[in-house]
Amino acid sequence: MSLQTSQLNELHWLMEMLHNIDVGLVVLDKEYKVQIFNGFMENHSGLLPREVKDKSLFKLFDEIPQDWFERKAESVFLLKNKAFTIWEQRPYLFKFNSYRPVTGSSDFMYQNTTFIPLMSSTGEVSHLCLLVYDVTDNAVHKKSLGKANEELAILSQTDGLTKLFNRSHWESCLQAEYKRWIRSQHSSSLVILDIDHFKKVNDTYGHVVGDEIIRHLSNLIQNHVRETDIPGRYGSEEFVVLLPDTPLKSAYVFAERLRKAVEASITQYNDIDLKYTISMGIAEIEPVIRSHKAWIECADSALYHAKKSGRNKVNMHPKSVKS
Ligand code: GH3
Ligand code: MG
Ligand code: MG
Repeated sequence: MSLQTSQLNELHWLMEMLHNIDVGLVVLDKEYKVQIFNGFMENHSGLLPREVKDKSLFKLFDEIPQDWFERKAESVFLLKNKAFTIWEQRPYLFKFNSYRPVTGSSDFMYQNTTFIPLMSSTGEVSHLCLLVYDVTDNAVHKKSLGKANEELAILSQTDGLTKLFNRSHWESCLQAEYKRWIRSQHSSSLVILDIDHFKKVNDTYGHVVGDEIIRHLSNLIQNHVRETDIPGRYGSEEFVVLLPDTPLKSAYVFAERLRKAVEASITQYNDIDLKYTISMGIAEIEPVIRSHKAWIECADSALYHAKKSGRNKVNMHPKSVKS
């Protein structure tokens, strides 16, 4: 075989491989007219190379935003550098269906695309090559992993029985509110509440009924708070509600309303009608309270006094008198 024939053969094989490779390959001239369109592009678009030859890319594929594409391509022509788009920024360049059996959950093919400058013999970039990679498997897995992580994060912040924020997450919200108060000195109140004589409920009816009452109370709390309030389950049958932008007096109105609603409601479990009451302590944030933990202690001591003075009561932590 002569050298020339063997070189021709190699070139032929090379062309054959590029046509059959599992990557999209498109060559465009400076007017964005298609010059080369390989088998991958043909199979996924349903267009034959002769149908696309010398046609404008934007007329053939109207999903490609022309302004954006031209800006990207112009820098490749000018700077003679490669450019990239990844699926996280733009899910696809060409809207192709996804036929992957493993990743049936995606309707379209996610793509990463590389823009390569092609130089003419004079050293000028006269054409542009697009390499289009199908990254659907990767994208779908990454997205489902992200979703699972989000669900896990929510789960780790939630109390299983009531679906309210659990203590640790609620405390981090309280800490954030305390820091916000340091900067802005707006009024903000904290309510802590505890079911009265709950041990008796458990002892008389059992833990399942006790759990039902805890759930019932959490529903009542959720029905009474505003969207910006932050309720949480602090411990066993103790709940907390952070009331941002709320002075003590307004917090008292909220607490009294909730206390009365609890007093008036009946929880039904099988044939048993159950009634219970709650005691509450409120503290408004003020400069003498030096940390978010001290803020909880103030509300807790108000709760302690509500219990001591007979239960089924709302008690406010006294504000320090300004001199
Ligand atoms: P007080 O009026 O002084 O609050 O009396 P109390 O009996 O409610 O006393 P306390 O608040 O100390 O009682 C907490 C009891 O709550 C202890 C435990 O039996 C019960 N408890 C704690 N966590 C749970 C829970 O998740 N489910 C149920 N059913 N009971 C719980
Ligand atoms: Mg109790
Ligand atoms: Mg308790």
